[in-house]
Amino acid sequence: MKEKRLVTIMLMLITCIFLCSCDKKSQESTRELFAMDTFMVLKAHGEESDAALDEAVREIRRIDQMLSIGIKESEISTLNNNGEADFSEESMYLLDTSREVFNKTEGAFDITVYPLMVEWGFVDQKYRVPEKGTIKKLLENIGTDKIETQESNVKVPEGTKIDFGGIAKGYTSQKVIEILERHKVKGAIVSLGGNVQSCGVKADGKKYKVGIEDPKGSEDYIGVLEIKDKVVITSGSYERYFKKDGKVYHHIIDPKTGYPAKSDIASVTVVNEDGTTADAMATALFVMGREKALEYWKKYGEKDEFEMVIVENDGRITITEGLKETFDSKRHFKVVGK
Ligand code: ADP
Ligand code: MG
Repeated sequence: MKEKRLVTIMLMLITCIFLCSCDKKSQESTRELFAMDTFMVLKAHGEESDAALDEAVREIRRIDQMLSIGIKESEISTLNNNGEADFSEESMYLLDTSREVFNKTEGAFDITVYPLMVEWGFVDQKYRVPEKGTIKKLLENIGTDKIETQESNVKVPEGTKIDFGGIAKGYTSQKVIEILERHKVKGAIVSLGGNVQSCGVKADGKKYKVGIEDPKGSEDYIGVLEIKDKVVITSGSYERYFKKDGKVYHHIIDPKTGYPAKSDIASVTVVNEDGTTADAMATALFVMGREKALEYWKKYGEKDEFEMVIVENDGRITITEGLKETFDSKRHFKVVGK
């Protein structure tokens, strides 16, 4: 029995080596890593896929360090500790994009919620429900409009601190895809903790498929999207949370109340062509709730070329009409148009 299994494995290996060596160009390379507090998988095929992925991994590590709040010398730590810092072009780009989304979403996306994240224990993972008075006090320092910039110089008033956690992974997947494209890969797909971005097509010439997780945690995807040169980013209350006295407290904060956003949305998935804005928007749309999120899509969906999938707490699924041809699901879903 054992021998038979060994022969089978040998045969499989030989077939595999054969398949890999006969067509180097369509060989798919993979890298797996843990960064930004999450598990990441990168896949690419094309002549330079190995070199491309190695560079991509280095890039992820670099951005992770750059945005790290744990590193005292990082630009963000300097700003948070001293109230002032000189930002590189890159940090400034993240700040500008964050500010743009803050303005457009009427403050639903707000990078200054950081002190609240600390107070709720999401930063040191010592979860706790803060006193009402503490939250009220902290709210006085919240607001991206409190951040002042003059060329590369950034200033915040005392007590105001920032964190790019709601935008960092989208920005990173964007940079990774740009690297892979520079290496002329034929196709690639990267998943940074479930945030997915792709370029080109699979080795078999078909489009990449991305499953959207069931916020309730079942094994089945709630649906599958077929994508080309797109990013698919989900924000959900099921991703990071703690329970206290039977209540669930998740990690997306409503900047107006200081509490985890009371949203009828369990998860919202944004599909567009730019990772950075998709990530910020997913976080904001979650805070807004279904009705406001759909209003926002009606207003900006066409101009900003984005579509979305909303899963409500009761399991109902809504997709925007641009995804009609690309979304496949065994479940019932509603298609919303303009
Ligand atoms: P994740 O990165 O966990 O997949 P999100 O992109 O929605 O999910 O980002 C959540 C993170 O963003 C939080 O961990 C926190 O650092 C930060 N954050 C929480 N609430 C907000 C908010 N209203 N606006 C901007 N950033 C937020
Ligand atoms: Mg986000």
